[in-house]
Amino acid sequence: MKKLIIANWKLNPATADDAQKLAASINQAAKNTAVLCPPTVFLSRINFPRLGAQDCFWQEKGAFTGQTSPLQLKSLGVKYCIAGHSERRAVGDTDEMVNAKLNALLEHKITPILCVGFGTTVEQDDLEVTDVLKQQLGAGLAGIDPLKVIAAYEPVWAIGTGKNASPEHAEKIALFIKSKYGIKKILYGGSVNAANAKGFLQQPNISGLLVGGESLIPGHFNQIINF
Ligand code: PEP
Repeated sequence: MKKLIIANWKLNPATADDAQKLAASINQAAKNTAVLCPPTVFLSRINFPRLGAQDCFWQEKGAFTGQTSPLQLKSLGVKYCIAGHSERRAVGDTDEMVNAKLNALLEHKITPILCVGFGTTVEQDDLEVTDVLKQQLGAGLAGIDPLKVIAAYEPVWAIGTGKNASPEHAEKIALFIKSKYGIKKILYGGSVNAANAKGFLQQPNISGLLVGGESLIPGHFNQIINF
């Protein structure tokens, strides 16, 4: 079965020209389903069959300087939007805000990718991880149909560090999210690369990957989306 691979370009690249070149170098007909999430400012300049946003605001319009609404994203053809990424939580996004974003996205038929995860060290024990996941999932999904949401399990210690979780650990957490919260699609994210991607994609309860750094390297990302 096809897996879903989300490219999170974060605050890269520097120019619209470079963003267009990067998008043009990604295989559009890969074995798996690839979604590109460029910076919001470049969304309208990217030609790719599936686009996602990295974040959004929960209001549709009005006096909210600097924000981007799901309504605006929808007008650009955006089909997916990340919410609750740990880099957003680190600058103040709360579970309640994430919940409001999910509601707003679903209202405009954009599929939310709800990021959850915890742990600043690889040693952090599973119970502590599970407690934080319960909080993030319980509050984030309040009043939301879990079947309309994709979850991404991203241990914070694994993001951008070059240290990934083991596929077995990610599979165990995916199963926990699936059985307790009813979300059907769970992705893994955190230092995924062309060498370790296959191990995650082979897990039965992992539906795909959220890829940061390696999604900026076309040769590597094209390998990941073609496993
Ligand atoms: C991410 O941005 O969600 C991410 C997982 O980044 P990286 O792949 O660079 O660890």
